[in-house]
Amino acid sequence: MIAPDLETAIQHLRELIGTAAVVVPFTGAGISTECGIPDFRSPGGIWTKMRPIEFGDFLASQEMRDESWRRRFAMEGQFSGAKPGRGHRALVSLYRTGKIPGVITQNIDNLHQASGIASDHVVELHGNTTYATCLDCAKRYELSWVRERFTASGGRSPDCADCGGTIKTATVSFGQAMPEAAMRRAQALTDSCDLFLAIGSSLVVWPAAGLPLAAKRNGTRLVIINRDATEFDDIADLVVHDDIGGVLAPFIAH
Ligand SMILES: [Zn+2]
Repeated sequence: MIAPDLETAIQHLRELIGTAAVVVPFTGAGISTECGIPDFRSPGGIWTKMRPIEFGDFLASQEMRDESWRRRFAMEGQFSGAKPGRGHRALVSLYRTGKIPGVITQNIDNLHQASGIASDHVVELHGNTTYATCLDCAKRYELSWVRERFTASGGRSPDCADCGGTIKTATVSFGQAMPEAAMRRAQALTDSCDLFLAIGSSLVVWPAAGLPLAAKRNGTRLVIINRDATEFDDIADLVVHDDIGGVLAPFIAH
């Protein structure tokens, strides 16, 4: 059913969460927009104005790597200044009750971890932009390390200090393979729950599209909270087309 108003939505959501044993949230850009993180893929979003750098081009060209880092540092204020929103805070409240074994997210902003969910319990399908790794030896680099060298060299992206390999933000770029371990964990979490909450995702980018469907096939109840309609609204047990922060704020423990 599509909730006719916010009050009804919150009441139904409270009942569904109250009777569920295991709740798995799946989050997309919509949960972070109130935190000032832009939705890259939405109409008017960054990817409609600026062509993303494909993974193959990043690997092939120093110039593309330099441009990629230049863009990343230009956005640093937005990422480093962002605080968890009401949606993140509601989910960490439920997590602390023991009902949420893990959160699956399409977001790269680290805000679930910042809200207090253990890193081990956040499954990031598109990686994380708040740190970097060497693509060759997997060594982790903080962005401050990269930025120092980038600036000192006049805008040239540095190579790995250990192996000379390519350093990239820990995100999954267009054209880059999906992380298999994260995919498996997302599927396992989906299979483990009896309530699946799809929050702030348009549910079009694969594998986001597959998880709610898998949940329904298992007989799991499905809730979709998103400002706009999704193609899974018809099969959901509850659909809420409203502001995510407003819907989830009553679930924040004080
Ligand atoms: Zn390396």
